[in-house]
Formats: sequence, structure tokens, C-alpha cells
Amino acid sequence: MTTQLQELFENNLRWAEDTEAREPGFFSRLLKQQAPQYLWIGCADSRVPANELVGLMPGELFVHRNVANVVVHSDLNCLSVIQFAIDMLKVQHIIVVGHSGCGGVAAALNDLRVGLADNWIRHVQDVRNRHQAWLDTVEPARRADALCELNVVEQALNVCQTTIVQDAWQRGQELVVHAWVYGLHNGLLQDLEMTVSRLDDAGVAYETAIAAVRSRYPAPAPA
Ligand SMILES: [Zn+2]
Repeated sequence: MTTQLQELFENNLRWAEDTEAREPGFFSRLLKQQAPQYLWIGCADSRVPANELVGLMPGELFVHRNVANVVVHSDLNCLSVIQFAIDMLKVQHIIVVGHSGCGGVAAALNDLRVGLADNWIRHVQDVRNRHQAWLDTVEPARRADALCELNVVEQALNVCQTTIVQDAWQRGQELVVHAWVYGLHNGLLQDLEMTVSRLDDAGVAYETAIAAVRSRYPAPAPA
């Protein structure tokens, strides 16, 4: 165990030295300020490393992650991150990112009990229930990925509905909310076209994005 952890320290030393060699003064510059333009709200899944997959360095991406990238109106943790990102860091984009093969989404879809997280995943089940009639038409093998996309769109709408985002738009601050999904199988991001830059656009953007999800998962032709 100790050997394993030692490896992490060795990796860290190498990373710090390589980074400094590539960009002399990198860490002393970061010490003075962080100025990320983006807030990433993603899943805690270890296969979705936020900075790495968009090629951003420390200081360039503000990150919040939880199981199944859920944005709950009473979650002080997530709301605090959003508030700090908007009011203090003045990020210009908030991106909710789901991913294919999400264990949290699969558990929500299939009523799997995993433990305390069941209560958290309940929020994803609310999304499932809201779209149950349509989800039932989707090929069973693709249902989890369809729910993953619906969940991202719903959570992005939740971001738009926070008082923090609404206040920012009200005072004319430039801020765009996005919904993306990451493919575990190919490492690629996909824009779900839920792009909202003012409150009045949220409803239409949501409807458009939901319609686009539905068109990607057509009902199988009758046998
Ligand atoms: Zn996940």
C-alpha cells in the first residue's frame, strides 16, 4: 500500500518538474490568481478527468463533480461552487457534462440499490420518471445512454434556474450554460445543444435539446 502511494508522490514530483520546465514560472504565476473561464459540473467517475480531456491546465477550469452530475436546488456544495465561479471568478461558461456508461444513471434506470447514494441518485430517477413514457420506447440496450443525455439537459436547466445564474443574467453578466456528454468508448465530447445565454431562452433551448435527444434514440422498427 505504502509503495503504491509512494508512486503517486513520485509521479507528482515528475509532473511538477515537467510542468515548470515546459513553462518556467508556471506555479508562481498561479499563486497570484486563478482566472478560469469555465465551470465544469461533471460526474465523479474516475474515467472522466475534466482538465485532461479538454486539454486545460491548472487554473483554467473550475470543477465540481458528484455522482451522476446532478444539480440540486438545495445542494449548498454545488450552489457555492456556482456562486463563487460566477460572482468571484466571472466564468463565462458553465458546462454540465454527463458521460456514457454512467453507473449512477444505470442504477437510477434499473432501481439498483447501491447504498447511501440511492438517495442522491433519486434525483436521476425523477428525470427517468418524467420521461418514462418515451424511455420505454427506446431499445433497452440504449436506455441508459438516453437517460444520461436527458439527465444532462435537465441538470443544465436546473443551473439556469438557480437564483445565482438568474441574477447574473439580470445584471447583464455574460454567462452561457451548456449541456455536453462524454463518450467513454471514444473519449469524445458531444454538445447536446442546450445552450442558454439568457433566462428567456431556457425553455426553448430545453425543448430543443430534449427533442434532439429523442431523435438520436428512435424507437426500433416493429418486427
Ligand atoms: Zn457517472
